[in-house]
Amino acid sequence: MIFDPLYWIVIGAGIALSLWASAVTKSRFAKYSQIGTRSHMTGAQVARAILDDNGIRDVRIEPVRGSLTDHYDPRTRTLRLSEPVYAGSSLAAFGVAAHEVGHAIQHARGYAMLKFRSAWVPVANLGSGLSMFVILAAFFMGGAATAMGETLAWAGIALFATTTVFTLVTLPVEFDASARALACLRGRYVTDTEYDGAKKVLSAAAMTYVAAFATSLLTLLYWAMRLGLLGGRSRD
Ligand SMILES: [Zn+2]
Repeated sequence: MIFDPLYWIVIGAGIALSLWASAVTKSRFAKYSQIGTRSHMTGAQVARAILDDNGIRDVRIEPVRGSLTDHYDPRTRTLRLSEPVYAGSSLAAFGVAAHEVGHAIQHARGYAMLKFRSAWVPVANLGSGLSMFVILAAFFMGGAATAMGETLAWAGIALFATTTVFTLVTLPVEFDASARALACLRGRYVTDTEYDGAKKVLSAAAMTYVAAFATSLLTLLYWAMRLGLLGGRSRD
């Protein structure tokens, strides 16, 4: 596998896609960090205001170190905003703060995809931990060329697929959080021009999740093919 050029093409494509998405996110964030908003509110203030608008009063907002480290923690109902977002009043800060509030709203409203994603975390962790061992064992057994190898190959692919499913359900969760964020911002906290900027920041961030899903799916297909489950190399 190590010397298989196809492996490096697949992995290389995934890495290139992820690097590109993260570079676009960083450059859009940097660009819109320079553009102030007319309201002069900080990310933390706009987050609090949107939470209030939605009747959510049990979510804390606190600053967290780093850049683009923003997240909502459903266990403690805490919205953690990176320092430039927490204290910043740029369009980028507004977009990111509102996106994280979008997750808090999903949690408060019991959004099904978020529930499923949270419940799936331990499954995906277990799957990713075991999949490589089982896939390697399947290779040693000759992959789909032997009965035992074929069983192990399917088991390894099923285990790996738990992580692909995780990256897939992340997509609606992330797109929905951004859609909620933009709807909350529109007309109330941003002008029409500012709205377009916030949208650009969030659509770039969404690409990183699309890249993660594409990479996981490509890797899954690669293993399935190499193990002889795809591409007609099966046992007869
Ligand atoms: Zn998110």
